[in-house]
Amino acid sequence: MSDIDDGLHTPVDATRGIGTPPVDALRAAGTGGPPAGGPAFDSDHPPRADLVSDCVHCGFCLTTCPTYVLWGEEMDSPRGRIHLIGQGLSGEPLSDSMVTHFDRCLGCMACVTACPSGVRYDRLIEDTRAQVERRHPRTARERALRTAIFALFPYPQRLRLLRGPLRAYQMSGLQKLVARSGLLQRLAPTLATLESLAPRLRGVPRPPARVRARGTRRAVVGMLTGCVQSAFFPDVNAATVRVLAAEGCEVLIPPGQGCCGALSVHNGRRAEAQRFARKLIDTFERCGMDWFVVNAAGCGSTLKEYDELLADDPVYAERAAAFTAKVRDLSELLAELGPVARRHPLPLTVAYHDACHLGHAQGVRAQPRALLRGIPGVELRAIADPEICCGSAGVWNVLNPAPAAELGDRKAKAVLATGADLLVTANPGCLMQVAAAVRRRGASIALAHTAHVLDASIRNLGPDALLDRD
Ligand code: SF4
Ligand code: SF4
Repeated sequence: MSDIDDGLHTPVDATRGIGTPPVDALRAAGTGGPPAGGPAFDSDHPPRADLVSDCVHCGFCLTTCPTYVLWGEEMDSPRGRIHLIGQGLSGEPLSDSMVTHFDRCLGCMACVTACPSGVRYDRLIEDTRAQVERRHPRTARERALRTAIFALFPYPQRLRLLRGPLRAYQMSGLQKLVARSGLLQRLAPTLATLESLAPRLRGVPRPPARVRARGTRRAVVGMLTGCVQSAFFPDVNAATVRVLAAEGCEVLIPPGQGCCGALSVHNGRRAEAQRFARKLIDTFERCGMDWFVVNAAGCGSTLKEYDELLADDPVYAERAAAFTAKVRDLSELLAELGPVARRHPLPLTVAYHDACHLGHAQGVRAQPRALLRGIPGVELRAIADPEICCGSAGVWNVLNPAPAAELGDRKAKAVLATGADLLVTANPGCLMQVAAAVRRRGASIALAHTAHVLDASIRNLGPDALLDRD
């Protein structure tokens, strides 16, 4: 793990850094630290030089980049990282310093949204990370942490085993005692981060493999249950199924569907991600589905890129492209179908938070807002600096707890400043990250997924069904 708590946590002047990059700083970053030997990248999917040269160094992306906002360092901006990738392509070795700056990227893709030149930073960092994971020797501590993370998080059955002990820990009062003592934070900051992120667990039965549409059937929809989503937010999946059925969708939820590979692909573990992707395609392509629906933003962005992930696979390339064409975020599908289920009033003020992998990576911003506005009584409130990540970013907050907490605190402050009754977002990571930050401030706000709000409206549960959530 990179030691990134380096005293640079000074908010940057929003106007600083626009224009010519400080070339000396970039050169130093590229050559600092001991070289790993040989050129940075090998011939197995190196980052593409033509994508690097698309960057015109204008700096428009800088102030939307959370690491640049935190530290004001050129090397921790999109432009700086693209420059480092270019150095690697010119034959520079993959130095520790270079890897540190790549590791610090959250993969939030705010820079992709901001870039007027259409630079595919998403492709560049993904290819770079795969090279780093294969070619850069990590310390024993880094290896151990990453091994533990990837032996646990992409496996919903293993995550579900944690539910019992975690629930007992939360209900016994031990959690509050440990939080007050601050002991865990001092002894094991990574464990303390995981502990602080854990949501209040709710007991919800698993959805059946097939749920019939209510009324006339309008579509057959395969549904991803997810890893963290199914283990820690089964109520989101249950609400999603009810909303889809109420809107005339038959929902197919094959058991044992496994991970979609998002966490792996976002962390440079391409071969592992490809294995997960092949299994998911095998599981769903025989279902006869019209659409494949996802209610977790991070998963959705990866599923929409299965065609790229498996492009070189002679057996799966075409099947992956056909699968990708069917993938929709829940809000996209509902917006495309149009509502048929009656919306009952929910007199609530709602702050809607764009999950980065929904807003920046998939460009899905209007649909969830339109769905929420379609509920009588719902008033949307805007959150300041919506483009800046909350610091969750997959497992980035576990690998980088201090800066992730700082980003979480900023987001929590902006959310609370809206004065809204309810925070709504569409990603389990964001829900956990913002909830933890709100708790750290000694405040509280009800939290919900978009599916919860639609479900409460369709079932006429009233606002209290949402307001007792935290
Ligand atoms: S993906 Fe996010 S953290 Fe990474 S360079 Fe782009 S804006 Fe910065
Ligand atoms: S990535 Fe885009 S916005 Fe950022 S410096 Fe390059 S061209 Fe400008």
